[in-house]
Amino acid sequence: MHELKIAEELIIIVLKVAESENLKKITKVNIQFGKMIQIVPDIFRFVFESGVKGTIAKNARLKLEILPIKFACKKCKAETEIEDLLFVCSFCGSNDLELIQGRETIIESIEGEK
Ligand SMILES: [Zn+2]
Repeated sequence: MHELKIAEELIIIVLKVAESENLKKITKVNIQFGKMIQIVPDIFRFVFESGVKGTIAKNARLKLEILPIKFACKKCKAETEIEDLLFVCSFCGSNDLELIQGRETIIESIEGEK
């Protein structure tokens, strides 16, 4: 269950940011995951909510967004979003691709009250 490890790391960052911004309460956290991280949103939500108990983020609303996997084709330069795990350019059929999106873990924003 790698959601637990990722949640723990993100909670530490979220709390640090909130501290540096002098927030008394965190009301909302927006997080984006690339699809290749293979986060199960329900599990992540559960471990995140357990992890923030007793902190200023305990009542924060968690918004999760999964970013699709995107490749740039080295042959025709087109960008392809991959739905299934068939890694070919949907424009020219080449499989000489470079991953440009799909592996990220991004804390997009944190909202809170001072
Ligand atoms: Zn192509």
